Amino acid sequence: MNETIHWADIIAEDVLERGNKHTVASGITPSGAIHIGNMREVVTADAAYRALKEKSADVRLIYIADTLDPLRKVYPFLSDDYEAHVGKPLSDIPCPCGNHKNYAEHFLLPFIESLHTLGIKPDVYRADELYRQGKYLDAIKKALLNRDAIANILSEVSGRELAPDWSPFNPICSKCGRLTTTKVTGFDIEKETIDYACDCGSNSTVPMNGGGKLTWRVDWPARWPIFGTTVEPFGKDHATAGGSYDTGIRISREVYNYEPPHPIVYEWIMLKGKGAMHSSTGLAISIGDMLEIVPPEVLRYLILRQRPEKHIEFDPGMALLNLIDEYDQVEGDKRAYKLSQTEASKPTDVPFRHMVTAVQIADGRDFDYLLTILKRTDYDTSDVEAIRQRADNARNWLLKYAPPVVKFKVQDTLPVQVTSFSGGQKQALSILADDIEHGMSGQEIHENIYNVAEKVGITGKQVFEAVYQSLLGIKSGPRAGYFLEALEKDFVVKRFKEASR
Ligand SMILES: [Zn+2]
Ligand SMILES: [Zn+2]
Repeated sequence: MNETIHWADIIAEDVLERGNKHTVASGITPSGAIHIGNMREVVTADAAYRALKEKSADVRLIYIADTLDPLRKVYPFLSDDYEAHVGKPLSDIPCPCGNHKNYAEHFLLPFIESLHTLGIKPDVYRADELYRQGKYLDAIKKALLNRDAIANILSEVSGRELAPDWSPFNPICSKCGRLTTTKVTGFDIEKETIDYACDCGSNSTVPMNGGGKLTWRVDWPARWPIFGTTVEPFGKDHATAGGSYDTGIRISREVYNYEPPHPIVYEWIMLKGKGAMHSSTGLAISIGDMLEIVPPEVLRYLILRQRPEKHIEFDPGMALLNLIDEYDQVEGDKRAYKLSQTEASKPTDVPFRHMVTAVQIADGRDFDYLLTILKRTDYDTSDVEAIRQRADNARNWLLKYAPPVVKFKVQDTLPVQVTSFSGGQKQALSILADDIEHGMSGQEIHENIYNVAEKVGITGKQVFEAVYQSLLGIKSGPRAGYFLEALEKDFVVKRFKEASR
């Protein structure tokens, strides 16, 4: 895997043949919480952007929020009041919490914040502002004047029959506020206005700038020349034969005289055992939720180590520990590792599975105590913020996704299970208590356990069980070497002595 060229570099090489000036675009309709499945698009775009930048291209990364898209239905997370807003642009609908400018911003702002955490800083554009500012004006005029040519392309490529009164423009009704119930009845290129009739009974005229939007299949290619887009990732739903990329190619070339961007078609991210994460299915973990358990650079790595056209199965259980450790040890795809780094990411030398053990030992005590535990086990604790971040990730993971087998609690008092210890187990604990008292490290204890077992005539497994039961009240626990080293020495000695009586 390390020998092959990373896909982001292949794309960069490819588009550089087109010239040195580039725009990598991505975007979304902010109709609900933006989840990790959507994030694949932006991380993919960012990787292409970084690869181009490294090759000295004059490149920028943009993100277009389709804030003028209508609310399609009352989603399960919305109150019934939203029934009145179905069909209106997202930027004209009140936000669900009351603290944002509008519905679109409610979902967009936390997403942009997550992007910054992920080291992605695109220029963000909002469709409602772009239209109001007149950025689409020429594109709207061309679309209206070339209505028949566009209708032909759409029916030829997508195979769907368009109604005789079909228009590439969807006016926003000035009476009821909807853009899903209007029909264009005329336009004036000079005055830059559009006439419409609405199902609500309104017949009126709106300005081309801000009075509505181009329909998606035209809006997409229309924005390519506006931003000079040369690279754009999009989900496979847009990439089907006769889909919006196919029609976009022809509209772009034939109506807007622009060579379409290099497509990067990406597959979905599946949640293990649950299926594809998609806004419409409601099966999603928000990016904010993900960042509570996964360090940002590792989330990038999850996406970048896989080619875009392969699906990713995200397993927030035990597999997450392996993913984080693979990242920390730079064992996997080295180029993906490099492309995953963020300015803010501060790798620690504490393996995540040790952090998971350490935070459980420190349970209920302050952060300084956690640092003490890490120092006991010889980890570098100089970067306090990095440790704090990983410790938070570990705690949240334990709370939400960790399987029961990794969870434990160090018992404050001698667990009752010790009453069932055999004579051999008691003897073994007594020997271990002496060894620790005389300076043997946790690691040495671990390596010595089979010798002790042999000496007292029981199995190694029985010694391990006695160790865990006397400390945790259960028969298994974290790897004994690290675990014993992380605990306070006097505490362990005292506990083993008590248990051996
Ligand atoms: Zn809000
Ligand atoms: Zn209306």
